[in-house]
Amino acid sequence: MENIRRNIRNYIDTLPPHVKLVAVSKFHPAEAISIAYDAGQRIFGESRANELVEKAKILPSDIQWHFIGHLQTNKVRAILPFVALVHSVDSQRLLSTIDDESKRIGRVTDVLLQVHVAQEETKFGFMPDELLEFVGSGAIKGMNNVRICGVMGMATNTDDVKRIEADFVAIRQVYDALKASEFADEACFEIVSMGMSDDYQIAIKHGSNMVRIGSSIFGVREY
Ligand SMILES: *Cc1c(COP(=O)(O)O)cnc(C)c1O
Repeated sequence: MENIRRNIRNYIDTLPPHVKLVAVSKFHPAEAISIAYDAGQRIFGESRANELVEKAKILPSDIQWHFIGHLQTNKVRAILPFVALVHSVDSQRLLSTIDDESKRIGRVTDVLLQVHVAQEETKFGFMPDELLEFVGSGAIKGMNNVRICGVMGMATNTDDVKRIEADFVAIRQVYDALKASEFADEACFEIVSMGMSDDYQIAIKHGSNMVRIGSSIFGVREY
């Protein structure tokens, strides 16, 4: 716990100014988040709906909660009042549920589209071609209560730097393709969320402007 303050300060001081830090606090207690908060951190990432809601209820209201894990459609309603950005939109059904539920409570929810490139890590996310096709289909046009602000992705969990670089390049290319076409006129479409504790420097080198850092701030997670 004593290191959390120092770790946060270190990231705040060393990340390039255009890169936002999401402190991934999943599985860590509210006290750990408070320490990071007191060190100046305001954006926290959670991957389980119940955990996000429980923490949001007791921690300061100016925290921006980001949802970064796989989100089941039946959990959307619970997190919406608390969440500032959903990184992990991985299906049309989820996007349309977020839109419907946002409409119901009269808000517009910011989201990222998750791109699947990693070799084994997760089965979630749109394949690059699938995502370009989905966005190109016009399916998003009628969704007025979601604002698509960019993409999120993960690299393969490997020591092979070439592989990690190829994954980040692929995610970045999807972002560039969308930015040049469907989202050309959307000022808010500007987030490339990629990079975790072990690979964020490579991610930044390949165009990330939002990194999601957990264990190197809060220590190892006990599941
Ligand atoms: C857990 C998690 C992170 C943080 O990973 P660390 O290796 O602990 O930095 C980042 N992104 C996602 C999607 C995660 O699930």
